[in-house]
Parts: sequence; structure tokens; C-alpha cells
Amino acid sequence: MSIQSFHPPVRTLMGPGPSDVNPRILEAMSRPTIGHLDPVFVGMMEEMKELLRYAFQTSNQLTMPVSAPGSTGMETCFVNLVEPGDKVVVCQNGVFGGRMKENVERCGGTAVMVQDEWGRAVDVNKVEEALKANPDAKVLAYVHAETSTGAISDAKTLAELARRHDCLTIVDTVTSLAGSPLMVDEWQLDAVYSGTQKCLSCVPGLSPVTFSQKALDVVTSRKTTVQSWFMDLNLVLGYWGGEGKRAYHHTAPINTLYALHEALVILQEEGIENSWKRHRKNHQALKAGIEAMGLKFVVPEAERLPQLNAVSIPAGVDEAAVRLALLSEYNLEIGAGLGAMAGKIWRIGLMGYASNTTNVLFCLGALDAVLSGMKAPIDSGVAVDAARAAYAG
Ligand SMILES: *Cc1c(COP(=O)(O)O)cnc(C)c1O
Repeated sequence: MSIQSFHPPVRTLMGPGPSDVNPRILEAMSRPTIGHLDPVFVGMMEEMKELLRYAFQTSNQLTMPVSAPGSTGMETCFVNLVEPGDKVVVCQNGVFGGRMKENVERCGGTAVMVQDEWGRAVDVNKVEEALKANPDAKVLAYVHAETSTGAISDAKTLAELARRHDCLTIVDTVTSLAGSPLMVDEWQLDAVYSGTQKCLSCVPGLSPVTFSQKALDVVTSRKTTVQSWFMDLNLVLGYWGGEGKRAYHHTAPINTLYALHEALVILQEEGIENSWKRHRKNHQALKAGIEAMGLKFVVPEAERLPQLNAVSIPAGVDEAAVRLALLSEYNLEIGAGLGAMAGKIWRIGLMGYASNTTNVLFCLGALDAVLSGMKAPIDSGVAVDAARAAYAG
């Protein structure tokens, strides 16, 4: 055996996640590993909770990162709040709502689905009808920013509806956190999960979650035990919960937590409103370039996510060949369509550290060159100038 060390190429990541990681975060990760019960580490954990409360705009006591990717944050919310026999109204307008249904059913619950067209926001009127028709529902679950289609839904109004019908909310904010306005306390969201590798531009592998007191009370007064040992918050909080007193639950991913701490310090330095504004500004410039080329967005303007741009593939273009050319010639990654959108769209991410002027101009230039080289039906040579004009204006 003579396998050598692994050295990945340097890419620009403009897909649906992971996004480019800020070098400050990679540097933080390489600092010495210490024990997960070391008092210095425990001090860092307390800062982490404070920083996450800022990111989520909440004062929820239970605010912490789950030690695994976003999907585990999703599962943590469902396994803790849904007991066998519970009814959950699940909104689906893309891939991730479908995963919520899977979660409900694996918890022994019943999912009442509210289906919307992929590429559109969740229709609040349909949700209201479903809540009226199911007065015994316990939870309303929905995705704030649907990464599979690029649509944002009205998380605030959906939460109001849920409260009016005596339901808790489970809200997926994996792609919205730090990229689009998200106000956990003001909007009174109950169980909220996110991820690190989207608009926080951190390495993948952690899932920040926050639970309202109302949601936590439901968790601690369950009739049945949580079927997942690892995700049972009643146990996890023995490690993350207490001020000072910490019991071993699992070995925390120490260096990955250094990375998240640094990502959140960077967010605090920029200011969360500034981060939202930056995501919007770069989206506007990308949009100007995409539309100048003659390409079309999938999602209507008012329901569009700035950090995930779903673009329809022009007729006759081999979409996979375009992505391969971008990757091999430009070291640029953009995303393919997922689920029902596979083969129909590209997903251009402008998330976190990757949401910047250089990337917007680079991506438009590369896409223009590759599509022109393939004789695709686009207006060549105008995209970059259109984006520059959008920045100037
Ligand atoms: C990425 C994503 C997830 C899953 O996160 P992982 O870290 O890949 O497990 C869940 N929901 C949404 C909306 C996402 O974009």
C-alpha cells in the first residue's frame, strides 16, 4: 500500500451546499483538540449557545448544535415532539417537505400533507384549510427556505396559523439561517433546526436547533420515551443544558465546534442584518446577469430565495455537460436539480462566504463561456456587464 495524503482541489462552491468555507473557519478547526468536558471547552460551549441565539434571533434557553448534519436536526425535532398516534400537518413544496413526512411516519405519527407546486411558496390558505379540517393536529411542519426549488415561504404567517389552531411548529431553516430574515422569537416558532454548511459557510456536520419553552414542555412531558437514544433531548441536555454541570452523553465533535464558533463570531462581526442584505445584493446582480443571457428563473420574484437561484435549463442543452465543464475548466461547482426538478434546473447557490461580487461575476462569465461554446440559445457576452451595472446602480 502506498496511498498518499488526500489533497482536494480548490473549488468555488456555488451549489446548494456545502458553500465555500471561510479560511478563518478552517484555521479555527486546526487548533488543538481538548477534552469535551474540559472547563475551557465548556466555556466555549456557553459562548456558542449565546452566538446561536443571536443567529436565530431568540432568547430560547434550549439553543444548541446537534452533533450531526442538518438531517439530524430535522429528526431531532420530530422524534422529540411526535409520539405514536400524533397527527402532523406537513407542507410540501419540494424535496425536504417529503422528508418531514418520512420522519412523522417513522415516529408512528400520521402526516396530513398539504401539497404545493414545486417552485412556489407554501400556500397559507391551503394550510389554514388543513388545520381547520384536522382540529386534533399537534404540529404544523414546514420548510422556510426550500433548497430543492429556491422558494421561500412565509414562516411568520404559518406560525400564526399554527398558534390559532393550537399546534406547535417545526420549521426547517437549514438554508435560511443567516441568508434570509429569520426571527424565531418575534415569529414565535417552536422547534427550529438548521445546518452549518449553507449560509453560515461552516464545514458540514452540525445542526443548530432551538426550542421554545412550549416545545420543551411537550418534550419533557411525553407519555412514551423518545425512540432515538442519540437524539433524545432529555438525555442530550445533560451535556449541553446545564450551566457548569456537564455529564457525558457522546463525545462532542470538538474541532467542528471550534469551526461553528468561528463562523458565528464572523456573523456577529458582520451583523445579521448586513448578512441578509449582502445575500440580497449579490442575488440581484446574479439575476441581472442570468436574465441578460436570456435564462429564466423557476420561482416567481416575490417568492425567490436570494441564496439559492433555480434557473431553467435552455432547450437542447445537456445540463450535466455544462456542470462538468464548469467543474473541470473553472473549478466551479453549481448544483443540479433534485427530485422532480432533476434535469430541468440548475441551482446556483450564493450562500454565506460564497455570496460575494467576485463569485457572481466569475460564475456568470464561466456560464456564458461554456454555454456559448456549446452554441446554446443564449445572448452571449452580456451577462457580466449586466451584473456590474446592477452593482453600480
Ligand atoms: C441541506 C438541507 C437539509 C439537510 O441538511 P444536511 O446537512 O444535508 O443533512 C435539510 N433541509 C434543507 C432545506 C436543506 O437545504
